[in-house]
Amino acid sequence: MADQTPVSAASLGLGLDLAYAPAPEATDHVRIREHYGLLIGGKWVEPASGKGFKTVNPATEVVLAEVAEAGEEDVDLAVKAARAAYDKVWSKTSGAQRAKYLFRIARILQERAREFAVLETIDGGKPIKESRDVDLPLAAAHFFYYAGWADKLDYAFPGRQPQPLGVAAQVIPWNFPLLMAAWKLAPALAAGNTVVLKPAETTPLTALLLGEVLEQAELPPGVVNILTGAGATGAALVAHPDVEKVAFTGSTEVGKAIQRTLAGSGKRLTLELGGKAANIVFDDAPIDQAVEGIVNGIYFNQGHVCCAGSRLLVQESIAEPLIAKLKRRMATLRVGDPLDKNTDVGAINSRQQLARIEELVASGEAEGAELYQPPCDLPARGFWFRPTVFTGVAQSYRIAQEEIFGPVLSVLTFRTPAEAVEKANNTPYGLSAGVWTDKGSRILDLANRLRAGVIWANTFNRFDPTSPFGGYKESGFGREGGLHGLTAYVDLS
Ligand code: NAD
Repeated sequence: MADQTPVSAASLGLGLDLAYAPAPEATDHVRIREHYGLLIGGKWVEPASGKGFKTVNPATEVVLAEVAEAGEEDVDLAVKAARAAYDKVWSKTSGAQRAKYLFRIARILQERAREFAVLETIDGGKPIKESRDVDLPLAAAHFFYYAGWADKLDYAFPGRQPQPLGVAAQVIPWNFPLLMAAWKLAPALAAGNTVVLKPAETTPLTALLLGEVLEQAELPPGVVNILTGAGATGAALVAHPDVEKVAFTGSTEVGKAIQRTLAGSGKRLTLELGGKAANIVFDDAPIDQAVEGIVNGIYFNQGHVCCAGSRLLVQESIAEPLIAKLKRRMATLRVGDPLDKNTDVGAINSRQQLARIEELVASGEAEGAELYQPPCDLPARGFWFRPTVFTGVAQSYRIAQEEIFGPVLSVLTFRTPAEAVEKANNTPYGLSAGVWTDKGSRILDLANRLRAGVIWANTFNRFDPTSPFGGYKESGFGREGGLHGLTAYVDLS
């Protein structure tokens, strides 16, 4: 763990040095192979493409493994395997049987949670306390939740006779690798579809370990196929003619490209894309809780969160004390080794993402916003970015408009609720928002007027498998989670 400036001790006035001793999570129970193949038709196979790529630990830059890069031929084989499994097995498997498999997967994830959490942190850079306490429990909860629906689809859609669609192509990003796999796989399998899943190129390892869990759960071969690779693999998969449904989570740019590819094909599509959420704090809000919510909203998972509260809208009358408290709180965040149980902010997922954050932060300074970063030493190797807050931000600045996908908060102020709504909605995105106020009526009023798929009140970044999640405008369409999440995977006609 990097040395942390013991700012907290002095600022708390305790006269003590409260620097934390290192508390590294053990890694000896995690086995990373030197080389990984593709999971096609229930077998781990070498790619026909003959290609591979390396996945690195972003906190150390150490190469972890060589992973297969699926080409067009591999995509075709995987889709054929999914089709065969659909026709011969999965479409004939009863809902109660499908539920049993999903329950099994959920339970194995719980049993192997430590192994998964450590692997997620090593491959992606997120703090172990987050992968342990958020990603893993939620991933298991999604499988449990949709297991419950698998034999009750007729009740979920009364009088509609829901039918599975067939083969689903699912492409996921790197910020919540296992959790996004769970969000996608669980409803698809519960509804009776088979899947070809493509994890992101910087974080393939937990999806590959999940492949082993599927084998352990004795899921019939070909029901889930896992193809590693980058954008070209994803593009070949979504364009494959024998896929009925495409589910994509990732950037708006790629989402638009996929929409263009699929236009006129008749394939079903859901897109979970980027965001630029407003976290709105009124002068009657419980200010200390709001500060915690702001910190959680933007520094959780290094800000690599599509629904991150990346724009803080604070009522002008409390802006000064709130920002002072926020900076003081930021100085207590521990940045460093993601495997340390005390770490709050881990490594940036990749060199490429770090460069994007740096470029946008430079634009914020160039456009005239005022930057604050708490003092903290960063490790010598790996990809790191200090928790950052910009004040004096105008709505036109790029840091107020564009998704940074890093630990960077832009602060704007407002005077009236109407101004708050106008500024909050002044974005091409519409994924999430937060409202902090003492007044229930104001929460309900704002919830009606904010154009965002998810609105949190006096909290932020809360997730539950029973709640639908998804966006408006350039944040995409379709919902994941809850009953809504099933509709994307059934034919009701
Ligand atoms: P990305 O779009 O570059 O990549 C996402 C996935 O798509 C990866 O698996 C990638 O290999 C694949 N891909 C890339 N080009 C493709 C193409 N042309 N065709 C098909 N697949 C392709 O995004 P990213 O950098 O991995 O993820 C960050 C983005 O994801 C952010 O914008 C974030 O907001 C968004 N995101 C959204 C949600 C949500 O639920 N709305 C959740 C997580 C992340």
